Amino acid sequence: MAHARDGFPAYRGEMEYVCQGCGSRFPAAELYYTCPGCGGVFLLEDTRFAELTKTSGQTWREIFDSRAASKHSALQGIFRFYELVAPILEPGDIVSPGEGQTPVVRANSDLEERVGRPLAFKNEGQNPSASFKDRGMACAFSYLKSVLRQKQWDRLLTVCASTGDTSASAAMYAAYVGHPVTSVVLLPQGKVTPQQLAQPLGSGARVLELPGVFDDCMKVVEYLADNCPVALLNSKNSWRILGQETYAFEVAQWSDWETGDKAVFVPVGNAGNISAIMAGFLKLHRLGIISELPQIFGVQSCHADPVYRYYSSPPGERRYEPVSVRSSAAQAAMIGDPVSFPRVRSLAERYQALAGESAFQVVQVTEQEIVEGMLQANRHGHIACTQGGESLAGLLRAAREGAVSREKTAVLNATAHSLKFQSFQQMYFEDSFPPEYEIQPRQELINRPRQVRGVDATPGAEREAFVSGAAAEIMELLGLSGD
Ligand SMILES: *Cc1c(COP(=O)(O)O)cnc(C)c1O
Ligand SMILES: [Zn+2]
Repeated sequence: MAHARDGFPAYRGEMEYVCQGCGSRFPAAELYYTCPGCGGVFLLEDTRFAELTKTSGQTWREIFDSRAASKHSALQGIFRFYELVAPILEPGDIVSPGEGQTPVVRANSDLEERVGRPLAFKNEGQNPSASFKDRGMACAFSYLKSVLRQKQWDRLLTVCASTGDTSASAAMYAAYVGHPVTSVVLLPQGKVTPQQLAQPLGSGARVLELPGVFDDCMKVVEYLADNCPVALLNSKNSWRILGQETYAFEVAQWSDWETGDKAVFVPVGNAGNISAIMAGFLKLHRLGIISELPQIFGVQSCHADPVYRYYSSPPGERRYEPVSVRSSAAQAAMIGDPVSFPRVRSLAERYQALAGESAFQVVQVTEQEIVEGMLQANRHGHIACTQGGESLAGLLRAAREGAVSREKTAVLNATAHSLKFQSFQQMYFEDSFPPEYEIQPRQELINRPRQVRGVDATPGAEREAFVSGAAAEIMELLGLSGD
């Protein structure tokens, strides 16, 4: 592959939006959100992609491995994989404040023994806004910057609805790009965690809270998109999907490009992420960068499981129906009518055609399993959020059902940082989950702070008396003896 003199790739693609409903195509130079013809969602396609197949898989592997050491500021983060992401961007368009390149952390032997196989968490919580959403936002904002450059607009309002992490990410990226971009986020009131609410506020976004659940906010955002000049950043925005494909590229790279022995677990909410991950592996396969596709498992809570329900019927009898969600600790995935469902359907079909029916599956887990998955992971040194716990619960379920073979190494998507979702840990430890969650804490997993009083530390009391009193109390608690 040719590189320009400054080290930035010379290759430029030709991108088009491809409607997953009616197949219509539209040029990428315009800002499209959904198909003007049928309202369907898009996937973006590089119509010159065949050019890339002229470079061997081996050469691509070497290019991407050598870029891991590149200091080029436009080849950082998700743009290490520039040619596979959005090769219409110029170096000056690229917005990459530190997303991607997240660690894959192999579980310790105790956790692997409990689970019964090798497994690793990929810590998407180590992205800058502490979730995987940053991958998609890096691509979407870079594209917006290229549009701003070409159209010379002097104002651009970005809008999204969110279960918490999309808005945190959108607000952070908008703040980083700065003028002329401003950010508005719509949140379902009381349905995002305090940490997730704090993030867009801290980034300076306009934060609007609406009654209802995420699906209601989404409808309002779509109305705004249809009637006002705003740029939408929900996962219907197909530029976000492209950025999120890099998760698959990094899993493959971590595996030294051997993915046939991997099983990848992904929590499914709006289904953008699982679409992107399938699309990403398919791209690597087409370029010969990997020779075998990994198994992919979507995981859904029984409180928000429309994709599971669809795939649990036999192929001839499948019908997609939105569900009404019930409260879920995997709150970021608590979505009853996933906008990316048509993407999942078409990508899963391609995936299964290449790698067999069992290569893509969806499993369902309980709320109890989700929270305990998180607690178990973190007791073994991980930083999983509730959705990361859902990934582990999904692996345990798939293993019980014999859906994943014992030889596979499981790669679990820990989609956000545990601290964003610590309120669910707290509800478990304090046994304060509202009944609709159907979660009964088990004593052995509960951990709570214990007050040490020492002697009465009122003013005038001797400090030494306090220290020796507190130490005596602690020694007794811990069964330590003095000598
Ligand atoms: C958005 C989100 C999900 C769900 O991803 P989708 O692409 O909507 O399926 C899962 N976990 C976390 C932490 C998220 O922020
Ligand atoms: Zn269409």
